[in-house]
Amino acid sequence: MYWAQSDNLPTSGIREILDIALQMPDVIRLETGEPNFPPDRAVIDAFHQAARSGHNRYTSSWGHPQLREALIDKIQRINHVQRAANEIVVTPGGSPGLLLAFLGILQPGDELLVPNPGWPDYLGGVYALHIQPISYPMPAPEFWPDLGQLQTLVTSKTRAIVVNFPGNPAGSIPPVKVIEELVAFARKHDLWIISDEVYDQIVFTDQVLSPAQIAPERTISVYSFSKTYAMTGWRLGYVTAPWPYSESLYRVAMGLWSSVSEPLQYAGLAALNTGGEGIQARLEHYRRRRQLAWELLQSYDIPCHLPDGAFYVLVDISSMQMHSRDFALKLLEHEHVAVAPGSTFGTETRNFVRISLASSEEDLSRGLTALAQVLATGYKFSTTTLG
Ligand code: PLP
Repeated sequence: MYWAQSDNLPTSGIREILDIALQMPDVIRLETGEPNFPPDRAVIDAFHQAARSGHNRYTSSWGHPQLREALIDKIQRINHVQRAANEIVVTPGGSPGLLLAFLGILQPGDELLVPNPGWPDYLGGVYALHIQPISYPMPAPEFWPDLGQLQTLVTSKTRAIVVNFPGNPAGSIPPVKVIEELVAFARKHDLWIISDEVYDQIVFTDQVLSPAQIAPERTISVYSFSKTYAMTGWRLGYVTAPWPYSESLYRVAMGLWSSVSEPLQYAGLAALNTGGEGIQARLEHYRRRRQLAWELLQSYDIPCHLPDGAFYVLVDISSMQMHSRDFALKLLEHEHVAVAPGSTFGTETRNFVRISLASSEEDLSRGLTALAQVLATGYKFSTTTLG
C-alpha cells in the first residue's frame, strides 16, 4: 500500500529531550518554551461563560467578527500596522498559522529561506508540502541576518523568506536599518515575507519593527495567544495578509480546520480586552529570570547570549567540545536537567544549549547551577545510555 514518506520528516531535538525527560522522575525542565503561568482568570471565565451561553457553534473560517474587530485594534496599537477585517484569519495557534501561510503562497518545488538558527518546527510543514528550505545564516554574537549571504542564496525558485524577531532560539531584535535592508532585499527579489511574530509582546529592549509596517503588501504576519497570554494548550492564533491574498488563506483555513472553537475565540477576546496587566506581570518575571541567569552564569565565567525578546538564553558549551545533542542527553542523564540542544536550531547554534526563562525561578536557578558546574569543571560524562 502507498504510504507518504513522513518518516523522513525531520524531528525536533527539543521534543527528543522532552520525550525522554517525561519518562524520568525529578527532571528540572528548562527545554521547552512554555510559560509556567496559568492564563488570566478573566480568560478562563470568558471561555466558561461563552460555552454556557450557547456559543458552541461553527464560526466563519475567517474567525469570529468580534474577535477580528478587536484584533484590528491590537495590530494597530502593538504592531503599528493597519489591517482590515478581511485581512485577518483566526487560526488554531501559531503553528497552523505558519502552515496556512506556506500553503497559501508556496507550491511544491518552491524554495523558502529559513533562519539559521531558527525554530526547528518550520521544517516539518515545509518538507510535508514538498517545499525546499534554504537556510540563511544569522551568525553569533548578534544573531541578525547576514544580508550579504542572503543575496547569494536566491535562485529563480525562491518565493519567500521567514523572519522571526524576537525569535526562537536567540531572541534577537535587529536594528531598524537591518529590517529595512531585509525588506529592500525581499522587494528586489519579489519575495513574500513570512513574519513569525508569536513573541511580539515579550520584549525586553526596544520594540521590534514589523516588516508589515514597511511592506504590508508583501508581508504575512503570524501571531499567537500561546506565549503572550500563557495559553499554549488552548491553541489560538491569527494571521494577517494583504487583501486579496488573505482570501486564499481563508480558503485554505476552510479546508484545513473549517473554523476555530467558538468559546475559545470568546476567551481570546477577553484576553485582548483584559490582558495588559497580566502581560506586564509575566514580562517582569521573565526580565527577573533573565537577570538571574546572567548573574549566575557570570559567576561561573560561562559565556551566554541574552535575548532582547522571547524567553530563551543560549549558553555556550564550546568548552566541552561535544555535540550539543550528546551534551543535552548526558546532562539529562547525569544531572536530571533538560535543555534544548543548539544543533536542533541549525549550525549557527551548534555550540550552545538553549534554556527557557518560561520555567520557574527555582527550577531555573537549580538547573542553571547544575549546568554551570558541569561546564566550569569540564566534567567528563561517562557513555550515555539515552537517545
Ligand atoms: N513560532 C515560534 C518561533 C515558536 O517558538 C513557536 C512555539 O514554540 C511557534 C511559532 C508556535 O506557537 P503556537 O503554535 O503555540 O502558537
